[in-house]
Parts: sequence; structure tokens; C-alpha cells
Amino acid sequence: MLYFDTHAHYDWEEFDKDRRELFDKFNENVCGLVNIGINLDSAMKVKEYANEYSYMYYSIGIHPMEVEKENSLEKIEQIFEDELKNKDSKLIAIGETGLDYHFDYPVELQKKYFLEQIKLANKYELPIIIHSRESQEDVYKILKENVVKKAGIMHCYSGAPEMSKKFVEMGYYLGVGGPVTRYKDVEETVRITSIDKIVIETDSPVLPPEPFEKHSRNNSLYLNYIVKKIAEIKGISEEEVIEKTTENAYKVYEIKKKL
Ligand SMILES: [Zn+2]
Repeated sequence: MLYFDTHAHYDWEEFDKDRRELFDKFNENVCGLVNIGINLDSAMKVKEYANEYSYMYYSIGIHPMEVEKENSLEKIEQIFEDELKNKDSKLIAIGETGLDYHFDYPVELQKKYFLEQIKLANKYELPIIIHSRESQEDVYKILKENVVKKAGIMHCYSGAPEMSKKFVEMGYYLGVGGPVTRYKDVEETVRITSIDKIVIETDSPVLPPEPFEKHSRNNSLYLNYIVKKIAEIKGISEEEVIEKTTENAYKVYEIKKKL
């Protein structure tokens, strides 16, 4: 069975040496993979890959840790304008965007970009991919006050398990990746969340699952470790986890299943 990796960053320099070899290998293990652009430069690269590989899709936006760099939401918006005229476009979401309080990126600027991207999501009726680290309360408040028509994914959800319910109630799917093999809180979140609201992701090149070293390079060939852990937590078969999470990924990204 094939996996759907809902979140990865193959444009990053960690893959400069063997990107193409990996993409060829993924043909045999994934049915879908979404590269997430984090700034304008990144957007151009992920767009190029998606046009070359049939299983690949992309999302573009300005990551909360990129807000201080030279950015242009107008240019990002222009890509949406141009791309979405094409009905076969593989641009399927907005983001990642959100709030990151782990480091010292200016909060007001992060909020400004977050709100602007919510507006874009509603303008183009696309799902939004949310990055939230140590910021779940504020992210929740913003999403509650600024409803996104097509909710999207709380990527790599790492907040309090109880809090995850609020995002699911708002219609968001939870992205589960490598951290589920390391942290009890994430395990608990998976335990209390319906499999119908979970998608899998690697966030490659970061956050590899156990048994790999915490700071080693991640890639989509490791999705089986995440699936195995989810199956164990929920007491269901790995096949069922793959089947459901793939179905959910197709649903949230509104990708028509290829026969
Ligand atoms: Zn990411």
C-alpha cells in the first residue's frame, strides 16, 4: 500500500545532493506528497517539482519563521492568480503559516502575515496549512475570529492533547509525524482523535521518527514508522491507518483520486 505524505520540504538544501534519486524512489512508496513552500524562492522550486512528478503537489505561503526576510505577498498572490486558472494545477493549499513562539520572531509581524494568508485562503477557497509551536492559544483565537472556509491541517500538532479537540471541532485535520514516536503528549493526542481526522506527514528533512537520531535527516521512506506507531496507539491495523490517512489527505486537499 502507498502512503500520502501531506507535508515535506524537499526544496531545502539538505536534499541538494540526492533529491532526484529520492523522488524516483518515492514512486514506489507514496501515492501523494505535498511540498510546502515557505517563502517566494521556495514556492518557485516546489512548483517546479510538482510539475515533474505525478504524485507530487504543492502549497505556498510565508512561514512564521520567514516573516523578517524580504517577502512579497503580492508575488505569492500572483502565483495563485496565474496557477488557479489552470484546472490541472497542482497548487492545492496555502501555507504554511501560523505562529511560532519557540524562537524570537516578531509576534506582530507573524500575526500580520498569518491574517493576510487567511484572507488568501478564503479568496481562493483553498485549505490552509497551519504551523503552531508553543502558540496554540493565540492560533486558536485567530482562527476562531477569522474563520477559514476550508479548514485544512494543523501540521505536526504539538500542543496540549485537550486543546487538539478544539481544532478538530473547527474542522481541522491533525498532521501526525515523527514526534508521535517520541512524545507522550502527541501519543495522547492521537489516542483521543478519530482516525477520520488524522493525516500523516514527515516534515522532511526535519523531525525523523524513532529509531532514527533526532537530528538526522528525515525523508518520506520513513512514513511506515509513523503508521506503525499510530496503529499501535489506536489498536487498528497498519493497513487501516494507511487507507484512512490517504483518504483524509485526498479529502482535505480536494485531490481527485487517480484511478
Ligand atoms: Zn513544515
